Order: sequence, then C-alpha cells, then structure tokens
Amino acid sequence: MSDIRKPESSAGVSRPLVIAGPCSAESREQLLSTAVAVAEAGVKIFRAGLWKPRTKPGGFEGVGAAGLEWLREVREQTGMKILTEVATPSHIEQVMKINPDLLWIGARTTTDPFAVQAIADALKGIPIPILVKNPLSAEIDLWSGAVERLSNAGVASIGLIHRGFSTYEHKSYRNAPLWHIPMEMKRRFPSISLLCDPSHMGGSRALIAPICQQAMDLMYDGLMIETHINPNEALSDKAQQITPAELKLILQNLIIRENSKEIEGIGAFRSEIDELDDELLKVLSRRMQISKEIGEYKKQHNIPVFQKERYGEIIQSALLKAKDMGLDEEFVRSIIEAIHRESVRIQLPPGGLNVI
Ligand code: PEP
Ligand code: MN
Repeated sequence: MSDIRKPESSAGVSRPLVIAGPCSAESREQLLSTAVAVAEAGVKIFRAGLWKPRTKPGGFEGVGAAGLEWLREVREQTGMKILTEVATPSHIEQVMKINPDLLWIGARTTTDPFAVQAIADALKGIPIPILVKNPLSAEIDLWSGAVERLSNAGVASIGLIHRGFSTYEHKSYRNAPLWHIPMEMKRRFPSISLLCDPSHMGGSRALIAPICQQAMDLMYDGLMIETHINPNEALSDKAQQITPAELKLILQNLIIRENSKEIEGIGAFRSEIDELDDELLKVLSRRMQISKEIGEYKKQHNIPVFQKERYGEIIQSALLKAKDMGLDEEFVRSIIEAIHRESVRIQLPPGGLNVI
C-alpha cells in the first residue's frame, strides 16, 4: 500500500503515520474498548499481537486464532485498518481469513533468516504490506536481508520498524536505540518508510513521549505505540503501555519540523563543515602515511608493533587537550582509539592476525 512505501517522507504532510493498540489481544472486551478509545484519539491503524513470542516460557503467549474475529470487529466498528504479528506460514494462513490491512514481523523473527524466508515464501502472491522490525542484535545485514528476502518474494510494500537492540547490560532504555543503524537502513533503502516503536525501545511509560519526539526530529515517517485501555492490568509489556488518553496527549504535543526553505540558511555552515571534513581526511591520510613508515622502521629493527607506553601517552595527552578545547572526553577517546587501532593494523604484516 502506498502509505507504507512513500517516495519521500519529508514531502508528506501526513507525518507521523500512527499505529496504536495493545501489545496483546487479551479479550474481546479489552480489544474493542481499547480500539474505540484509540480511534477517538485520531489513530487510523490498530495493532494487537495474537501470537506472542515470549523470551521466557510461562508468560502470556497470546490468544492466537481466537482473537481474529475480535480484530475483524475492531475494523468493522471503528473503520481503522488492522494488523498483527506473524512469525510462521501458519500464522499467515490463519490471519488471511480476516484479510488484515498489514502485517508485521517481530524482532525475534527478523533475527532468524530461515523464519524470514518461510514467511516470504508464504507471502508469495499475497498483496499485503509488511512492516519489518529490526532484529534483536545490532546486525544490520539481518534487517536488510529480511527486506531483500521479502522483496525477492514479490512483496511490493515494505516498511521498517525501529524498536531498538538488545544489550547485555540494561541501561535507561529497554532496548538500545543505536539510531545510526536505522539511518543506514534509510541510506540502503531510500524509499522505504521508517517507523519508530518507542514502547519496546523505552520499556517504560515515561520514555514514550521523548522517544516519539526524537523520532520525529530524525524525520521518521511514523510511530507504533503500545496502548491499552488499562495498562496496569495488561497481560504483557505492562510497564510500557499507555492509555488512549495519554496517547492522545503525546500526539497532540509532538512538534513536527519539516524541511522548509529556511534550510538554505544553513548552506554556509555546511560548506564550512565540508571543508573541515576534507581537512580531517587529509590529516588522517598524512598520519597513516607516517604510521606506515614507522611500521617499516620497526620491521627493519625488529621492534614490536604495539608500544603500550606510547599508546598511554597519546590517549592521556589527547584527553587533556580535549578538556581545554571543550570537547567531550569519551568522544575524543573513541576517536583516538580508532586511529591508533588503524595505525596498528597497517603496521602488522599482511595476512597477520589482528589482535587489537
Ligand atoms: C510487539 O510488538 O509486541 C513485540 C513483540 O515486539 P518486538 O518484536 O519488537 O519485541
Ligand atoms: Mn509488546
């Protein structure tokens, strides 16, 4: 459908495309009451999980096919489009009985190329838009691979949902955003629509609004927000679901900044940045040339490539200067480390093990 694959998000006046609804369909009553309130908040597309992939056994695994009729009723009563998650060809076969308007593939499924291929094969000849969530791990090729598998199977309308990436340590986000990964997906697939799922990314109600705003400022096309008529009683993802009234407020308060002719005002700054970036590259190239010559010298005189003291000095002196120059220490440390790593790499013999 054209609303999922748009030529240019910034050209559209309809940002954000909003999908809302509960994490899981729990009962007919819960689904319909949530749907009526969500439609009242202005939402046009309704989500609900029927088959719930749970990381650990024992949790609520969804009502399955029993919820199909309820979803159909939602569409009939509210006029909203409906979608659910599919993870197997059997889910697709069952859900097609109610002709959903869209489908989504969950993060756990995107992680598994066999599962994605099975879904792609099952979708052959079915003209339905598919939204692909990012995989659990920060492996961009799994995400773009899923898009390619679907596209190769003839799925004409594909969108992306960025829901963040699992990390071993749990910090303020449930799933680390790693915003550069969806940005790279936009570079690989310029015409694909990109939605943000602040619910699974943030994992808590307080983070929904700021993440939505950030996604809008990064020119995302849409948002998928878990919304429940009574979040405190939700059978899954309780901490991150918001009420329809909260959803309405968040959407009303979003500031949508579109590109306008004022963008011309930053042209001069951009030229200066381009020049500085060129200079940075020239300096890096000169630095690596010298590293190469040092490497030759070390080789001739049997000196080891890695010099611990020298590395410590370089980092310490850069951090001191960074402070004076008002630069963030962690930022400078990561740049110096990357430069040093590259210097060591080019000094190691070709084909040798790079142990750094
Ligand atoms: C969901 O949307 O309810 C869900 C299970 O999400 P994810 O695949 O992002 O974990
Ligand atoms: Mn959920």
